[in-house]
Amino acid sequence: LSTRGNRHDRPRIGIMGGTFDPIHNGHLVAASEVAWVYDLDEVIFVPTGRPVFKLDKKVTNAEDRYLMTVIATASNPKFTVSRVDIDRPGITYTIDTLRDIRTQHPDAELFFITGADAVAEIMQWKDAEHMWDLAHFVAVTRPGYSSPEGVRLPEGKVDTLEIPALAISSTDVRRRAEHNEPVWYLVPDGVVQYIGKHGLYR
Ligand code: ATP
Ligand code: MG
Repeated sequence: LSTRGNRHDRPRIGIMGGTFDPIHNGHLVAASEVAWVYDLDEVIFVPTGRPVFKLDKKVTNAEDRYLMTVIATASNPKFTVSRVDIDRPGITYTIDTLRDIRTQHPDAELFFITGADAVAEIMQWKDAEHMWDLAHFVAVTRPGYSSPEGVRLPEGKVDTLEIPALAISSTDVRRRAEHNEPVWYLVPDGVVQYIGKHGLYR
C-alpha cells in the first residue's frame, strides 16, 4: 500500500474524517504524514454532521467546525475540506462519506485515515463489511491508545502507521478554552483566534 516513489495511474486521495470540535495539530500531523508516506495527491478533511458515537454529547454547530477546518488547512496546497457530511441530513456514517467522495472522484484510489482509538471501534461501524471495497484504511498511532488487539480487522485491509506523537485531543482543547487556559500551539493560530472571536467552549 505504501508506495512512495512508484508511479500511480489513478489520483490518490486521503479522507480525514472527524468531529473537529475543534481541529488541532494532531489531526494535521496525521494527515500530513499519511499524505507523505502514501504519496497522496490530496487529503480531504470531512467534518462530521451528527457523529454517531457522540449522540449523547453536545457538539459545536457544524458551520463553526467547518470554518475552523477550512482555516486550519488553508495554507496546505494538498488539503481541502468537504461539506458532504455536514450537508447530509441525519447521523453521519463513514460508509456514506466514502460513497459520496467516491461519486465525486470516480477514478481515484481512496485512503481513509483514522486514529488508533477510532479504528478500535471500526467493526461496529455501519456496513463495515462494505467499507473495505471503497477505500484502503490507514490507522495512525495516537498517544494513550494502543493498537486494537481484541478487534478482528479484515486481513490486509487496515495498515498501521507510526506518526510523531502529539498528545492533543479536542476534548482537552475545549476544556482549556472553557477555563481560559492557553490553547496556543495545540491548534493553528487562526483556530485560536476563531475560538476567541466566537466565544466557543465558554
Ligand atoms: P474528541 O476528544 O472530541 O473526541 P479528538 O481529538 O479525538 O476529539 P476527533 O475529531 O474525534 O478528535 O478525531 C478525528 C480523527 O483524528 C480520529 O480518527 C482520531 O482517532 C484522530 N486523531 C485525533 N487526535 C489525534 C492525535 N493526537 N493523533 C493521532 N490521531 C488523532
Ligand atoms: Mg475523538
